[in-house]
Amino acid sequence: MKNKIYIYNTLSKKKEEFNSLTKDYVGMYVCGPTVYGDPHLGHARPAITFDIVFRYLQNSNYKVRYVRNITDAGHLENDSDEGEDKISKKARLEQLEPMEVVQHYTISYHKAMEHLNCLPPSIEPRATGHIIEQIEMIKKIITNGYAYEVNGSVYLDVKKYNKDYNYGVLSGRNLEDTLEGTRKLDGQNEKRSHVDFAIWKNASKEHIMKWPSPWGTGFPGWHMECSAMSEKYLGKTFDIHGGGNDLTFPHHEAEITQSNAAHGCAPVKYWMHNNMITIDGKKMGKSLGNFITLSDFFNGNHYKLEQAYSPMTIRFFILQAHYRGTLDFSNNALKASSKGLNKLMDSCETILKISSSKNTDFNIQELEDKCYASMNDDFNTPILISHLFEGVKIINSLNDGKAKIDVENLKKLKELFQFFIFDILGLKSKKDNRGENTTNEIMDLILKLRKKAKISKDFETADLIRDDLNNVGIEIKDGRDGSSWHAKSK
Ligand code: ZN
Repeated sequence: MKNKIYIYNTLSKKKEEFNSLTKDYVGMYVCGPTVYGDPHLGHARPAITFDIVFRYLQNSNYKVRYVRNITDAGHLENDSDEGEDKISKKARLEQLEPMEVVQHYTISYHKAMEHLNCLPPSIEPRATGHIIEQIEMIKKIITNGYAYEVNGSVYLDVKKYNKDYNYGVLSGRNLEDTLEGTRKLDGQNEKRSHVDFAIWKNASKEHIMKWPSPWGTGFPGWHMECSAMSEKYLGKTFDIHGGGNDLTFPHHEAEITQSNAAHGCAPVKYWMHNNMITIDGKKMGKSLGNFITLSDFFNGNHYKLEQAYSPMTIRFFILQAHYRGTLDFSNNALKASSKGLNKLMDSCETILKISSSKNTDFNIQELEDKCYASMNDDFNTPILISHLFEGVKIINSLNDGKAKIDVENLKKLKELFQFFIFDILGLKSKKDNRGENTTNEIMDLILKLRKKAKISKDFETADLIRDDLNNVGIEIKDGRDGSSWHAKSK
């Protein structure tokens, strides 16, 4: 049976019933990371959002071809047409070959995704592996008259394009307004208009990552890779395109523009965008001092973190908000998530101890219907979780002997918990999720013992504990309100 799933489409700004374009498979493309730094909390949200979509569609009897790219060239600083390539810059600063940077951060991204229990995509193509496809697509855009070459660079002619199509169809930006805002800057560079964007850039001598092309040595514009790679693996028009809502403009608007300009058809049926994670209400950024990597979270290694948080706590925290809603990080919110997750997991163990009766006080079918309804309604995981907590209440009342359940309903309840908690939400059981709790509990115990030693003036033991922990990478800080610990950065 296929579920009737409704997806909020950024393009139409409304929920639409999902119908796949072909019977063979659902094509889903998600913009992946630019691999020049450690994965952070901002990477976790799109990965988990589209992992849920991937899991739910597969469990709704769809075959899904999930493509998520690795950006390893062409993404310039400030997401613009000018400036240094993000990866080249990192390579220059660290005196590495750019592909060493790419390899290092691709591995750390994969590790973080595995910790978060995100299933790997079906295909993970890289921009540098698809230069030929990008050049071919640029040639088509030029042939169709929507791009022009200047000094070895190729620009998409947005004004020309807008005569035949609607530039701004996704982001809602109006070309006239965009022109108005940038008019005074016109004439300062080689573009015909400031709204035009580079689809191929001429490489300067210092630019390391470059390839030969019909327009000279250069590199593709950042937006090109997703257009070329999605076409290669999913076709000219495919079902779902996902990414963070910060990519809507210019990146996804440019993808639509490039596909229309090359093939005369729009690339995507359903555009899906997850909202951002803020920290204390602010966007995360290196310059703001609130940039927390995922390994910082897992180790508790950041001045903003009061403790370590396990990957499953991070996953549960993200799933407790709808993907289109904002989500603000705080220690209190994460601690609450950790508690909630523990409750849910405890009842997964409790349910195994419950035996059935002849009579039943519950009809689990109703609960199951509500769980499916929440997922069918644009993957509403917070509502699903609230229904699962109704299940927790049922399990507790059964465990306390306050209510009864028959064989059939008990079996259904067990299956429902297994399916929604593990298969759909992708959470891991307590024994698979050791780490955070164990470490925090052990450290609490050690700090207690050290405090006891200090009270009884056994400073030798107190110092031994501090120094030995320091040797294994854990630093103890003695403050006025007691001692705290954190894992040292490597
Ligand atoms: Zn992309």
